[in-house]
Amino acid sequence: MQIPQCNPLASYQQSKTEIDAAISGVLSRGIFILGEQVAAFEKEFADYHGAGHAVGMANGTDAIELVLRGLGIGAGSKVFTVSHTAVATVSAIERAGAIPILVDIDQRSYTMCPSSLDAAIKQHRSKDPGPHVDAIIVVHLYGQPAPNWRQISDMARNHNLRLVEDCSQAHGSQFGRTKVGTLGDAAAYSLYPTKNLGALGDGGICLTRDADLAGKLKGLREYGWTKRYVSEFSGANSRLDELQAAILRIKLKRLDRDNELRRSIANIYLSGIDNPRLTLPAQNEFCRHVYHQFVIRTKERDGLRRHLTDHGIGTLVHYPVPIHLQPAYHGRVPLSPLGLRQTEQAANEIVSLPMFPEMATDSVDKVVSILNNWTG
Ligand SMILES: *Cc1c(COP(=O)(O)O)cnc(C)c1O
Repeated sequence: MQIPQCNPLASYQQSKTEIDAAISGVLSRGIFILGEQVAAFEKEFADYHGAGHAVGMANGTDAIELVLRGLGIGAGSKVFTVSHTAVATVSAIERAGAIPILVDIDQRSYTMCPSSLDAAIKQHRSKDPGPHVDAIIVVHLYGQPAPNWRQISDMARNHNLRLVEDCSQAHGSQFGRTKVGTLGDAAAYSLYPTKNLGALGDGGICLTRDADLAGKLKGLREYGWTKRYVSEFSGANSRLDELQAAILRIKLKRLDRDNELRRSIANIYLSGIDNPRLTLPAQNEFCRHVYHQFVIRTKERDGLRRHLTDHGIGTLVHYPVPIHLQPAYHGRVPLSPLGLRQTEQAANEIVSLPMFPEMATDSVDKVVSILNNWTG
């Protein structure tokens, strides 16, 4: 029995009849770009969050870039974020024309460390506030809302920084009673097939309470048009297509149920894994974790991965090389003056276990017992 780390095919099969019907509905209507399915999905996505306006995009990287541009971030702007994230977060900042400044993570949550952020803001901004609009991007990594959100949002207010959430791994997770994506000035989501809410191709979406910003984003995703063939500002082409929107409407109805399934798999892992060589993810009662990934850590990561592979269990590492050590960024991107020690240590020790809503309980049990048998 092989157990994959993730399984987007199983997610399609779960709703195959409904998805196939939705696809043929789109095909027979003959409208393929920005039609009624995209508009309906945007409305349902905003309603699901109980707030704001949603604007579909072609992918998560574009969603981040265009949110930044919509907020007025551009050449000369500084955007503070973590190095322990998908490259997309940082590449979007540079595509918006801004300078990414990378800060360390908190060792327990793997999300942004407020003291590292504070030092970076003091070094890179307070001395030279400049005329630019600057921002912070908080990444709710692995499905957990950043537990330090309040401290970070206080800093954003005190330093007049826009606050953006990268929710690409946290669809439907909650900070207290509030869903992520509605906490800051704006949020961006990837809808890549393996995400908690995933299309069957590329997709992305932005969410904001600010109606003017939402209107701007609709222009930015289509050549800066405010009406057809009239570009008021310079824009991109980043449209969500009708087929993906029709599929995503079906997947959105399942999101809470899928997240509950992920949480129950996580509970089996949390109560069953018992091996002194392994550190389990920290729990935070204020944060409703939706386990995009279930990440454990060990000093002997490569040996653990070999042991799991030998027993047919797939794993991945999210992420093996921090952004500031990647060839494209190394030595070039400014960092927090406190260094990125926790980021670098985590990258060497973390491993993501199999986690997807359709994972069978006996597969989860098998992973637990293979982990408990591991003696290093
Ligand atoms: C997946 C992901 C993205 C990028 O999304 P794409 O749809 O692949 O462009 C950005 N940020 C984070 C944290 C992600 O996990």
